[in-house]
Amino acid sequence: MAGLVQAHERQCAVCTNDFTTPKILPCGHLLCRQCVISWMDSKSEAVCPLCTCPIVEHQGNSFQIAADVVDALPTDSVMKALVENASILVMVGMCTVCDDLKAEYICMQCVDKMCPSCMKIHKKMSISRSHDVESVSTVTPERLAASRPALCADHGDKHAELFCVDHNLAICTPCFSNKHRECLDVKSLDEKMKSAVDAFASLRKKLLTAEDNLKQEIVNINIRVQTADVTEQQNMALVDKTCDRLQSMLDECRKQVKKLISDSVSKFKKSLSDVKSELEKRLGKVTSHKHLVTRATKVRPRPALIHAAQTLTDRVNSLDLSDDLEAEPWVNPSSEITKCCDNVVKEIGDELMTISREIVVAEVSSLLICLMCSMF
Ligand SMILES: [Zn+2]
Ligand SMILES: [Zn+2]
Ligand SMILES: [Zn+2]
Ligand SMILES: [Zn+2]
Ligand SMILES: [Zn+2]
Ligand SMILES: [Zn+2]
Repeated sequence: MAGLVQAHERQCAVCTNDFTTPKILPCGHLLCRQCVISWMDSKSEAVCPLCTCPIVEHQGNSFQIAADVVDALPTDSVMKALVENASILVMVGMCTVCDDLKAEYICMQCVDKMCPSCMKIHKKMSISRSHDVESVSTVTPERLAASRPALCADHGDKHAELFCVDHNLAICTPCFSNKHRECLDVKSLDEKMKSAVDAFASLRKKLLTAEDNLKQEIVNINIRVQTADVTEQQNMALVDKTCDRLQSMLDECRKQVKKLISDSVSKFKKSLSDVKSELEKRLGKVTSHKHLVTRATKVRPRPALIHAAQTLTDRVNSLDLSDDLEAEPWVNPSSEITKCCDNVVKEIGDELMTISREIVVAEVSSLLICLMCSMF
């Protein structure tokens, strides 16, 4: 039957058996006394095999003997009691009363294992009538451990009613009168049990509060990490967006400057081309009149040559023979380019300033963290 403590929780991680003298390591895990000693002897820096915390918290003296270190660790007496009671339940042998039949019941007070008929007798006898007898198949080690009466440290069979704080022992009343008469601090066992229970209640409260606080603080840290991630992404996006805008500004400026240059050059080329076609027109007229003159000089008909000389002289005199036609000069667009570039420089400067202004802070206030926590 499953109890509060599962069977595997009674097992040591090193030897995999139920604990023998379970020692509480600084991390709160348990190992058998002997297992810690051999574990420490086999490693130069022994750590808990379950969580890798150091077994010796303050490694001041490395020449310390393992057994001394381990003996200084507290023993988990609750686990020790559980293991003892579990082993009582595991070894179901013969009835401890008649030693004849298989035991099926256990008395929670005497820890006697009994066959059904001896159990009936046990329940009838005046001394054991009030005892709690349970089936061995259903009782758990925890229940057995909790029901068993404390026995005198000196008389294994006598119930202890007192606790000697000076000797740290549960004792019976005769022992108190004999051996602990001189002891200063002897209290009733019930009273000591009650104060131990109270101490555990306050320990539990303290640990629960600390657990809650630590969990909350870890949640807060996680939120801060998430916030930092989100902020990083936001700021990266801001830089990208700004740089993209700057890039398109530069592209626009490049386009404008190139247009200014090409406009000025095409205007100049147009003017050159106008001049060129006017000069070609003049050249055409000159060439065709040169042919007329050349032909007349070669043929020389009378008197047509005389008439022609007069006519052609008039014509050639009326022709525009000059070659001094000037194209409009090229106008350098540098001042407009400068203006355009100055604008871009100013806008880029402004954009870059906005990055530093718009950077999102990575830390949110503790008030905001509390708000975010309450949403989870
Ligand atoms: Zn072990
Ligand atoms: Zn550990
Ligand atoms: Zn019996
Ligand atoms: Zn009994
Ligand atoms: Zn005693
Ligand atoms: Zn004493």
